[in-house]
Amino acid sequence: MPPFDRNFYSIGSVRIERLNIFAQATSLGTYMSHVAPKFKLFNTLTRQKEDLQTITPGKVGMYTCGPTVYDYPHIGNFRAFVFEDLLKRWLQFRGFQVTHVMNLTDVDDKTIKGSQTQAKPLREYTNFFANAFFQDIKVLNIEPATVYPRATDHIPEMVSIIKTLLQKGIAYCGEDGSVYFAVSKFPKYGKLSHISVQELKVGARVSQDEYAKEEAQDFALWKAWTPEDGDVYWETELGKGRPGWHIECSAMSMKYLGETFDIHCGGVDNMFPHHENEIAQSEAATGKTFVNYWMHNEHLLVEGKKMAKRLGNFYTLRDLLSKGLDPLAIRYLLLSTHYRQQFNFTFEGLEAAKSAIERLTNFLRRLKDANGKGGSRKVNELTEKVEGCFGEAMDDDLNVSVALASLFDFVRDVNNLLDANELSREEGTMVSKLISNLDKVLGVIPKPQEEALPAEAQVLIEQREEARKIKDWKTADAARAQLKAMGIAIEDTAQGIRWKRIRA
Ligand SMILES: [Zn+2]
Repeated sequence: MPPFDRNFYSIGSVRIERLNIFAQATSLGTYMSHVAPKFKLFNTLTRQKEDLQTITPGKVGMYTCGPTVYDYPHIGNFRAFVFEDLLKRWLQFRGFQVTHVMNLTDVDDKTIKGSQTQAKPLREYTNFFANAFFQDIKVLNIEPATVYPRATDHIPEMVSIIKTLLQKGIAYCGEDGSVYFAVSKFPKYGKLSHISVQELKVGARVSQDEYAKEEAQDFALWKAWTPEDGDVYWETELGKGRPGWHIECSAMSMKYLGETFDIHCGGVDNMFPHHENEIAQSEAATGKTFVNYWMHNEHLLVEGKKMAKRLGNFYTLRDLLSKGLDPLAIRYLLLSTHYRQQFNFTFEGLEAAKSAIERLTNFLRRLKDANGKGGSRKVNELTEKVEGCFGEAMDDDLNVSVALASLFDFVRDVNNLLDANELSREEGTMVSKLISNLDKVLGVIPKPQEEALPAEAQVLIEQREEARKIKDWKTADAARAQLKAMGIAIEDTAQGIRWKRIRA
């Protein structure tokens, strides 16, 4: 029996299947019968939950707005990236083959300014922060996208769309040599954000500082070179200049996913104007629907307040790691609130997240020691229940809090069976596999073999050993204290030195 029927999402009528979504986990000989589940997601376009119907059965094309690589991303950015990772993992768990495209914005005012301040070529400057971003997502156990296109590698694709818009009379050249999108020529403008062009005109006029445009609400597709841009420009058919931000995402998403694709995600702050403008450019150019489902995650607060450098509550991932905080606890915390709810990031919450992960790892450890008689119906019932509840919750627009609650109910109930020594070794293994399988979605359980000791910590441990050999206790204690500050505790055991991660 194949583990999953990839086509069932595209079938409109309800179909009853013997569908075993936990193929690897279910080894007790019981298969669940399901009505084929449908993944429901909240579509910002329609403001309602809809069944996901993908363009190609069994496949999902998904675009997520990536970082502007001028600085380290902050935890608000990571809320979006973790939400998108959870979505992707869930779709994959449900058997979809996901093509995930995430752009890197490597040319804009901020990257140009940053590279000039550091007197580095733009590419060298943005490469540094792109690499930092890749390191950060790895630390947070975010699965890499299929492709990470960079804006500066896709200038011809952007120029091509802009030329089409010019030919269609939807874009025009301003007096400053820049090319603008004429919002009034695209009647559907505002369909995502539900902002009317009339409202926009009033709002935009107040803050208008670009007089080269014909209408205040129009936006730049191509920005003509100005001396502030220095050596950052492209000589194209549109003249000497650089692309606007919005056109980057239209060009790169359509290049890799086609003119119409399934899902586009991003933070709610990108809904307007960024995503609205992406729709306008793309649909005006192709005459086709750009994206079928738009998904937006809500804002993040830190300790109840909007994150701001002046409030002292602005954190990059690196800021948190330097406090010795556990990256998987950060991941757990970021994903444990439903993505459409405003999320309050607190240090107390991080403690709770850490405890939740410890409960799971301790549970897995305990399962290894199971050696009861087994065969009770109870464990089968519990397994079926958690499989059903977890899946149902996640299929309901990623209702992760309900899914986690069902998982921890399961852990509690199986712990009771372990207390009564009712679980056999085989059942213990089966339950472990089930937990590991669910963790393919959550990605919060540390993998022992991946727990490598940081090089810096290795050096400190060696220094401590050397110091102990010559009875230099002061140096040895200082090394131990430094390790502790890094969140690493060491124990001297009969088998040698052991280390473990601790809370700072
Ligand atoms: Zn974008």
